[in-house]
Amino acid sequence: MQIQILASGSSGNAVFFELGNTRILIDAGISARRIERGLASIGIRAGDLDAILITHEHSDHISGVEVLARKHRLPVYARPRTWSMLGFRDKLDSDCCRELPLNLGIGQVEVVPFPISHDAVDPVGFCLYHQQMKYVIATDLGVVTPVVREAMACADAVVLEANHDLEMLNNGPYPFYLKRRIRSAVGHLSNHDAADLLTGIPRKSTMQVFLAHLSRQNNLPALAERIVCQRLSEHGCDVGNEVVIHMTYPDQISGYCR
Ligand SMILES: [Zn+2]
Ligand SMILES: [Zn+2]
Repeated sequence: MQIQILASGSSGNAVFFELGNTRILIDAGISARRIERGLASIGIRAGDLDAILITHEHSDHISGVEVLARKHRLPVYARPRTWSMLGFRDKLDSDCCRELPLNLGIGQVEVVPFPISHDAVDPVGFCLYHQQMKYVIATDLGVVTPVVREAMACADAVVLEANHDLEMLNNGPYPFYLKRRIRSAVGHLSNHDAADLLTGIPRKSTMQVFLAHLSRQNNLPALAERIVCQRLSEHGCDVGNEVVIHMTYPDQISGYCR
């Protein structure tokens, strides 16, 4: 198996999962060319993807979907209300546009979307199940709901939002309305929110955690990592063994293979 975060952050998101022989891309919020190049660098052709799954309609999650799906004739799954927000639906083969149900099999993988609190029409995170393993992607969350906690419980690997440091956001250059949106219940998770979530859920003996969707303006990778690791250690977690933290970047691939 492998997880490769091709890009993460408000400038674009794309996460590649290869589980057994099934290859899934979650979001395509960077150009199709960058996705093709990123996949090629790990020996994967974009045409070999089994599906693209869309979390929500914000441009940092969908900007590359149309070109990528059309060029390689890939099936794209999004919630029905999310499709209604996607202007490129008419430009894709109707066969490529698929409505995301509440439970879906793609190749050897079972896909279960779960609702998240964010300012989009029907935003979701995803649990992917393969053999005994559970993989979760949860970014663009305003608040951690019981549903999110349940989705993250006992996961083997998670891609979790650590968007901002609250102090940097409050003292930073963003206009007031934007600061308020980010902090709101339909905005984004702070480093502390992410840390609290990780300390409060049941875990298997080892969990790989990718801290994702970091703000360039309002966060620093080293700061996010330090806050999360500190909080976990304070709760008696053996960081590096029980929870292994990986950072993600807007313009650089980070991944985990097993
Ligand atoms: Zn986003
Ligand atoms: Zn969003």
